[in-house]
Amino acid sequence: MKESCGVFGIYAPGEDVARLTYFGLFALQHRGQEAGGIAVANGERIFLQKGLGLLNNIFTEEMLQSLEGHCAIGHTRYSTTGSNIILNAQPIFISHKGVKLALAHNGNITNSLFLSAQLTDLGLTINSTSDSELIGLLIAIQDGEDIVEKIAKAMKSLKGAYSLTILTPDKVIAVRDPYGIRPLCIGKLNGDKWVFASESCALSLVEASFVREVEPGEIVVAGEEGLKSYKAIPSPRKAFCIFEFIYFARPDSYIEGVNIHLARRRMGRILFEEGAVEADVVIGVPDTGTAAAIGFSEASGIPYGEGLLKNKYIGRTFILPDQRIRDVGIKLKLTPIVETIKNKRVVLVDDSIVRGTTTGKIIRMLFEAGAKEVHVRISSPPIAYPCFFGIDTAVRSELIASRLSVEEIRDYIGATSLKYLSLEGLIRAIGLPKENFCTACLTGEYPEEIPEHFHKLLLEQR
Ligand code: 5GP
Ligand code: MG
Repeated sequence: MKESCGVFGIYAPGEDVARLTYFGLFALQHRGQEAGGIAVANGERIFLQKGLGLLNNIFTEEMLQSLEGHCAIGHTRYSTTGSNIILNAQPIFISHKGVKLALAHNGNITNSLFLSAQLTDLGLTINSTSDSELIGLLIAIQDGEDIVEKIAKAMKSLKGAYSLTILTPDKVIAVRDPYGIRPLCIGKLNGDKWVFASESCALSLVEASFVREVEPGEIVVAGEEGLKSYKAIPSPRKAFCIFEFIYFARPDSYIEGVNIHLARRRMGRILFEEGAVEADVVIGVPDTGTAAAIGFSEASGIPYGEGLLKNKYIGRTFILPDQRIRDVGIKLKLTPIVETIKNKRVVLVDDSIVRGTTTGKIIRMLFEAGAKEVHVRISSPPIAYPCFFGIDTAVRSELIASRLSVEEIRDYIGATSLKYLSLEGLIRAIGLPKENFCTACLTGEYPEEIPEHFHKLLLEQR
């Protein structure tokens, strides 16, 4: 189960916390469109509503009104696998040995097989196939004075990536793994109310101001006594997911003080420095390729044009179920603007190539629309290794860059020329120290040892 999701949490007595969570999740919808949910607590009880699909399909006005309380968490889920997906929707609710909590998880636990065996041995029943339930159960079975101590103890047994928001009957807790792989930040609302969110873009929508990131290995509690911080486990090193900067995060978010849009524009500028080409127009693949395309145009002096139109009304889930629909999918989603492309030498900028199928279809579409040349420029290095920490790229054999050289990829996708951004260029564009990133998908260097059962996926070639 690999998934990158959006998590949210709010402690705000006197506010409509369910609605604010709904708004916060709305700003995080890009992090997951498959399922979503909100849990609210009123000091005694926890209420939970969740469902499949986009948030506005899940929640009705009555549902939001039924969720009364003073603190809440929410989740929006991204995943491409799993049939019984409603069981895996979050937040998950745990009631065990007097511990009652709801939990929302972004990331991927790498020792989940080991943990589920351990929990089953203890006689516990595991209902979902999601590793997030394991985290909740692991917390509930710990000895400890209070919930913070239980969480800190559970963190010692967890491997992999986890940014969590946890709801107890009277407080909201944010937790981040010791590497800080997935993002998580803190915001402040009207002085003494607190918000946690995967990305800062979710703060502005609820009118909270950014305070800081949750530190790697930190537990932050928002409750009656205000905001409290606990250093739960030491951080061996920082390993922020570099793919958040390349693709995943929303352009208006700031992660570690870096604005995502500006970072992507710089990626585009450096991409031109490294892969200059003569052309008539620069276009981006919307939405995630747009900023880098603008940067490429700025640096090269080649005019930026709107060459591809994205249909905003097609949800990702719509494309999923059937391969035939998936093949039509690209045309439902993207159409060429012929007037920008016809008889032109086109630079096509995108953020990444994963399997190479979408990129190949887009190039074919541009040639059909009359492009004379299509020079593909990718604002990240080749993705050649699978992610075990929460980005659902693919298994290794499906990653085109694990099998083919750049020239072979160029040939496969049918581009006139192809150039990727270098790792050094990418790091320079983001502007944070290289040692602070997880670059495993690009370099194969994982920040933490990958448990045995994942090696198969890592070593597998074709
Ligand atoms: P490909 O040519 O590999 O089939 O598709 C490349 C496109 O996939 C790029 O436009 C990139 O923005 C997009 N992409 C990269 N990572 C992900 C992801 O995790 N999920 C989805 N839906 N698209 C992605
Ligand atoms: Mg894209």
